[in-house]
Amino acid sequence: MIRAGVIAVQGDVSEHASAIQRAGESHGQSVEVEKIRQSGSVPDCDVLLLPGGESTAISRLLSQEGIAPEIIDHVESEKPVLATCAGLIVAAADANDDRVDTLNLIDATINRNAFGRQVDSFEAPLDVAGLERAFPAVFIRAPVIETVGSNAEILATWENDPVAIKHGPVVGTAFHPELTEDARIHDLAFFHEED
Ligand code: GLN
Repeated sequence: MIRAGVIAVQGDVSEHASAIQRAGESHGQSVEVEKIRQSGSVPDCDVLLLPGGESTAISRLLSQEGIAPEIIDHVESEKPVLATCAGLIVAAADANDDRVDTLNLIDATINRNAFGRQVDSFEAPLDVAGLERAFPAVFIRAPVIETVGSNAEILATWENDPVAIKHGPVVGTAFHPELTEDARIHDLAFFHEED
């Protein structure tokens, strides 16, 4: 049994809950999901998901509720995190936006809404390191990873911009893997080493 915490202060929570359950099932693992809105629960979780939504609101609520330091401790204990879209922005070293108090879990800087200026949302087949077939990536007002530090590894790029990244136990994506039936990104983030 794996206990997965979905940070649920704001954003697309239920889709992540079912995606990690599907990824777990494919490994014969049952996953108990807890939606986290307050401090005190993160320390009991084996894995965490930081969903998309609005990064300014998510970062404010994480600090306000005292959840931010618990997420940092979770990563320091080498436990996995999947951070998507706004979650990636919050997990990065710098979001180039004073309204986002980042957690500095991923050695990268982010440009919020970078794709949004050109096109609001789109879906693209993406080659991702570690996946055999292209992943159907859904981008919604997506951020772009602008600079990647030496401690982080780029897992995928779209038109030369990094859009998926890994730093230690943290995987971050600019797109929304929870919005497709394909649970391979959740699989990569949480169950890969067990294969
Ligand atoms: N543009 C949003 C932000 O800056 C992220 C969008 C998303 O999570 N789909 O927070």
